[in-house]
Amino acid sequence: MLLPVLQTNSPSIDRPINPAARAALAGDLARLCRGQVRFSRHDRLLYATDASMYQIEPIGIVIPADADDAQRIIEFCFHRHLAMLPRGGGTSLAGSTVNHAVVIDLTPGMRALKHVDAANRTCEVESGISIDDLNAQLAQRDTGLYFAPDPATSAQSAIGGNIATNAAGTRSILYGRTSENLLAIDACLASGERVRFEAGAGKTNPTARALAEQVIDIVRSVEPLIRERYPKTLRQNAGYGLDRILKQLDAGATAETLDLAQLLCGSEGTLATTLAAKLKLVPVPKSKGLALLAFTSVDEAIAAVIPILSTGPSAVELVDNVVIEAARNNLECSPFVDAFPKPAGTKGDPVAVLYVEYHSLTGQAEITQRFAALEALVPHAAKRLVTDAKGMGDALKLRKAGEPLLHGLPGARKPLTFVEDNVVPVENLGRFVREFRAIVEREGTRAAFWAHASVGVLHVRPMLDPHDPADLDRLQRIAVEVADLAKSCGGVMSGEHGDGRIRGPFLRRFFGPELMTAFAQVKAAFDPKNLLNPGNIVAPGDVASIVERTRIAPLPGQHPHPHVPAVSTFFDYADQDGFGHAIEMCNGAGVCRKTAGGTMCPSYRATLDERHSTRGRGNALRMAITGQASEPGPDGAPGLPVWNDPETIATLDLCLSCKACKSECPSNVDISKLKAEYTAQRYQLTGTIPLAARLTGHVRALNRLGSLTPLLANAISNFAPVRALVGAMMHMHPRRSLPRFSTSLYRLAAAMGVPLSLPAPSAIHAQATATPPTVALFADCFTTYNESSIGIAAINVLRRLGYRVVLPRSGCCGRSMISVGMLPQAIATIDATLAQLRTAIDDPSVKAIVVSEPSCLSAMKDDWLTLKCQTPLAVRKALAAKAMLVEEFVDRHWDSHPAKPTITPAAHSGEPVLLHGHCHQKALWGAETSARALRRFFGPRVRILDTGCCGMAGSFGFDADKFDLSMKIAELPGSGLLPHIRAATPGTITCAPGTSCRHQVHDGLHGQHRALHPIELIDRALS
Ligand SMILES: Cc1cc2nc3c(=O)[nH]c(=O)nc-3n(C[C@H](O)[C@H](O)[C@H](O)COP(=O)(O)OP(=O)(O)OC[C@H]3O[C@@H](n4cnc5c(N)ncnc54)[C@H](O)[C@@H]3O)c2cc1C
Ligand code: SF4
Ligand code: SF4
Repeated sequence: MLLPVLQTNSPSIDRPINPAARAALAGDLARLCRGQVRFSRHDRLLYATDASMYQIEPIGIVIPADADDAQRIIEFCFHRHLAMLPRGGGTSLAGSTVNHAVVIDLTPGMRALKHVDAANRTCEVESGISIDDLNAQLAQRDTGLYFAPDPATSAQSAIGGNIATNAAGTRSILYGRTSENLLAIDACLASGERVRFEAGAGKTNPTARALAEQVIDIVRSVEPLIRERYPKTLRQNAGYGLDRILKQLDAGATAETLDLAQLLCGSEGTLATTLAAKLKLVPVPKSKGLALLAFTSVDEAIAAVIPILSTGPSAVELVDNVVIEAARNNLECSPFVDAFPKPAGTKGDPVAVLYVEYHSLTGQAEITQRFAALEALVPHAAKRLVTDAKGMGDALKLRKAGEPLLHGLPGARKPLTFVEDNVVPVENLGRFVREFRAIVEREGTRAAFWAHASVGVLHVRPMLDPHDPADLDRLQRIAVEVADLAKSCGGVMSGEHGDGRIRGPFLRRFFGPELMTAFAQVKAAFDPKNLLNPGNIVAPGDVASIVERTRIAPLPGQHPHPHVPAVSTFFDYADQDGFGHAIEMCNGAGVCRKTAGGTMCPSYRATLDERHSTRGRGNALRMAITGQASEPGPDGAPGLPVWNDPETIATLDLCLSCKACKSECPSNVDISKLKAEYTAQRYQLTGTIPLAARLTGHVRALNRLGSLTPLLANAISNFAPVRALVGAMMHMHPRRSLPRFSTSLYRLAAAMGVPLSLPAPSAIHAQATATPPTVALFADCFTTYNESSIGIAAINVLRRLGYRVVLPRSGCCGRSMISVGMLPQAIATIDATLAQLRTAIDDPSVKAIVVSEPSCLSAMKDDWLTLKCQTPLAVRKALAAKAMLVEEFVDRHWDSHPAKPTITPAAHSGEPVLLHGHCHQKALWGAETSARALRRFFGPRVRILDTGCCGMAGSFGFDADKFDLSMKIAELPGSGLLPHIRAATPGTITCAPGTSCRHQVHDGLHGQHRALHPIELIDRALS
């Protein structure tokens, strides 16, 4: 048979497309596509990156509504000779998901679990679903089955992308990679023809048969080379999977029976687009166990891997000291480091940790046996054995966060992704690590080693500065040397992440020209016009191209440019190595695209839109501030920062400033802070602040006014014309209720004999023996003027515990100003408030400054420390150390309160007490800070809800344009607050420390349910 030849006039990734032609294309596509067509520069830039270091602007983005829509788009591109790039979660580390092509984002519209056949342990899914979502749905249907491959990105990558990269995870030694769990692919060829590829497809489908015949001919023509050159490792993801085809032929497959899904798997979107797939499922293990083994050196840990494999683990994962150090400095991951065992004879953190996991279908007894075998074989390693689901999940979170965590490390050198995917036979792993280290050290840098020790795949990321031309030379030298090292160890440079832009250039060096020709022939058989993800696997660039088209030099031939021109910022970014690095912190790993667990990112969860994810915002800010938001100049140089780009403003607009990304994003990308900075810079540039923002920023003054005559103010504000006027001025949604005013807490507290100021410290000392210890209650805007009953409850509780309570007359914490970007005003307000709180801060007899509103406390403990205030940082830090939630104070000093609280045992029985933590609280200190106090009084009745953001987020949920989204977030299945409350038994008490959350409960449940502040509940219990 004549083998196919690839057309040479295929579209080049560098061929520009003029604006008129682009607009015409967008128009034509919009007419045939039922989904979304996005061709604006802003949208193109949001899809110009994946999780690699590359950046290539696509032609445009299309988001198909369903499989038929996707087919129409592909057919259109084929006839117009347009390159195409199917996209899942965009988490490729190899740069497989960046191209000058029409990006087809299959994740928002095609994420259904179409069919489950529990008897035969299979399911059919659309390509946009994630493995975690699939497994959650299988669990909901009580199938007892799940899809086993578990790449670290199982929450945010998509099955289509997993198939295209033959993804594998920690447990591949037991369950195999995606290819071993794949039964069929419903594919759309570049021509738009739909074909189902599976074993036996050639019997009924002439196209499948014709392709199988061609593939068989190609494979037979290079059969000896496939046997000789493909590595014999458990993982291998370089080039096309011709070895999997040969294996089928060895087993007797013919053109009628050959399963070409196995060839599509790992082909990185270059052969066909997966629209749907049939997957193999396996039973959920009955029991699991995880042993954490601590070592004092990486070599020692690696030496233990082979004996451990004989105990039949489901996974053996390594993390080294560099990852452990990064985790130690990360808010979310630091507690997981605390949980590591200490190596024998040491007190510090381990240098290397092995995660050894066991699965059993029979039960816990088997796990215990495996632990015993492990102890016998590796007695010298310190161990922690975990068998509870939460403990194991928490420990594995650190392992999964390895790569993004390293990106959070300060310094110009970052852990660059280019030699992160080598695989070598496990017996050669020790030699590989030693020689790899030597290469990196010769180049004057260091690297972290971690990941799948069980199958010989270590993810190594040398620390280099992509802005530094000398480091880019180092990068190329290291890449070449390490590729050769992997080969000499019997392995290959692409173990699981694929080739993409970074490793494609090494394929010829590894496989040789004959196999490269075979790859080109396979490509030509499926995609003769070379339209699908061109330049990947087939016809890749040369070695020099691996440092081209990066995020900091995205244009062909461009040199790395300085990240951000000097700008005087309102926040200090010293802890992130300056503002320039702060806006480059997002590495694109896409953890913010998860749809369950934690809070990040509420607006993505509700819209499933890349633009409204943390990553989308991070990219938008980076593009605007590095001057890339506007078209590049004639010399290709990026322009100046653009502080009032309407598209960037729109992309930031749906950020709820919930701060979840600050702690949940493994790189600690802090969009809430960057959004406030960007907005403040814009206001400064334009000299105008919108009226609604000004009113929101000055909410304290408005609330104070209302609370002068609360009855009248409440009556007036409910009067329809007044309500309409206020709504119009503040751009408020008509269905949102207005906050009610109460009598000022100052007035009520004074009537209770609470002092409204603190005497000078010397006066307090003089009466020290006579007066009980003092607690200062911070008078926040909402507790003081809208919900003073909460302040009264706090005073009551503190007095019953034997404290002298003071309510210093202080100003606002600035939260509402920060949230609308009025940063100069916020800084002035904060300085004034700090001056008023100074006595309480300095006076040692004031035991604590307690706050009832978490968003005010988060301002004090977080924003105040990085805003460029006049007040010395030491004073702000002293305040932050002394400030806490009022209920946290109750719990934290439980054993030393001057008066012991009386607790009735009866309080421990009764209806459940559900606690919904405030987003800022969860991000910075955890909902436990409220739960612990509640448990003191209500024992096991207290349950922390597994909710995300309530959707209100201060003024966000009031906005007329955001009300629907706000309610959608509140109603999200799984993480939404309202469904949890509705599902509760009658009489259940809901607790929410945040005023916004309580307001959302009120509005979302039409005033039928009232959520309480924890301190109100504690007050009731004490009285
Ligand atoms: C922090 C981190 C950890 C990772 N850990 C692992 C790991 O443990 N194991 C592992 O295997 N990988 C890992 N990866 C790499 C990556 O997550 C996987 O390759 C994943 O399978 C990519 O899926 P995706 O949906 O994000 O694909 P994308 O990045 O969107 O696409 C990847 C490739 O697949 C193609 N593609 C996407 N969808 C389709 C489709 N429907 N039809 C045809 N082609 C398509 C694209 O064109 C592209 O070439 C990790 C990445 C990161 C950032
Ligand atoms: S914002 Fe954070 S979680 Fe999202 S892609 Fe960027 S680094 Fe990852
Ligand atoms: S602050 Fe919240 S809404 Fe905004 S990007 Fe971060 S997680 Fe998303």
